[in-house]
Amino acid sequence: MGETATAQGLAEQLVRSRALIPTGAQGVYGHGEDFSFAIEGLSRAINRLFGRQAERMRFPPVTPRADLERIGYFRNFPHLLGTVHCFCGDERTHRDLVKTHDAGGDWTGAQAASDLVLTPASCYPVYPAMAARGVVPEQGYTVQVQSHCFRREPSTDLARMQSFQMHEFVRIGSPEQAWAFREEWTERGRDFFAALRLSAELEAANDPFFGRAAGVMGQGQRQQQLKYELKVAINDAAATTACMSFNAHLDHFGKALELRTPDGEAAHTACVGFGLERIALALFRWHGVDPAAWPSDVFDLLDG
Ligand code: AMP
Ligand code: ZN
Repeated sequence: MGETATAQGLAEQLVRSRALIPTGAQGVYGHGEDFSFAIEGLSRAINRLFGRQAERMRFPPVTPRADLERIGYFRNFPHLLGTVHCFCGDERTHRDLVKTHDAGGDWTGAQAASDLVLTPASCYPVYPAMAARGVVPEQGYTVQVQSHCFRREPSTDLARMQSFQMHEFVRIGSPEQAWAFREEWTERGRDFFAALRLSAELEAANDPFFGRAAGVMGQGQRQQQLKYELKVAINDAAATTACMSFNAHLDHFGKALELRTPDGEAAHTACVGFGLERIALALFRWHGVDPAAWPSDVFDLLDG
């Protein structure tokens, strides 16, 4: 496997080849021909290889704020959450805001939080949707879902985007079903990266909790082995980046959303997420900026 682009070089090369279209905002890119080929090809390949036994769902990139409040996302990750604010004033307020704008001021004062937030992970809308169906059946649910996700983490790191797409598989059921699913998937994930000819390391991980509780929360997550990541060198051969995550949530969503199994207990859930942009970046980094020149088996897997 030959490294074909240096860290800083990769961003420049992808912009030059028009694979990535900078928008001027950090971590927000349009996708040109080659990047679209990679992202769409990955999504199709994942669907073809693993999608058959899962119920397919697609949600828009906004979620009811009330659902994320029930789940408690704003408690643990207030720094990442994007809320949708909208103008809700009258004509006079509107005239004032246009005047303020034209004078170079901040015109957003008349915006107020709406009932929507930007979806931070593809799986979030799945749990309320399943809770609305009533008791989880004996065999549980397996769902595959993909959406645009938003996280407020502006960065100069090409692999840390504010808007990106996540393809996820989600399991809802008994503790055993959720745990077995997470375990099976670590093997499947490794095989998928091998098929892409990317060298990936499985590592224990934790989520980026906010504030003073972050250390304790992160440690707890690691001690219970609730999160693993498959990491690939994208920017720097020494520092790898998570391209896929394997999460056990125990009964967090089950309790928060009153999602119950037939025995009356809170359901356990697990999810595995493919970070499509990061996997695409890894492909460009290791196989070159021109997909037509990628190893033919990798190209064919994405072109199928
Ligand atoms: P997480 O829910 O944090 O485990 O994220 C799931 C997957 O989404 C990760 O394994 C990454 O591949 C991808 N991901 C997370 N954050 C970002 C980001 N800021 N930019 C691009 N991809 C991301
Ligand atoms: Zn998830």
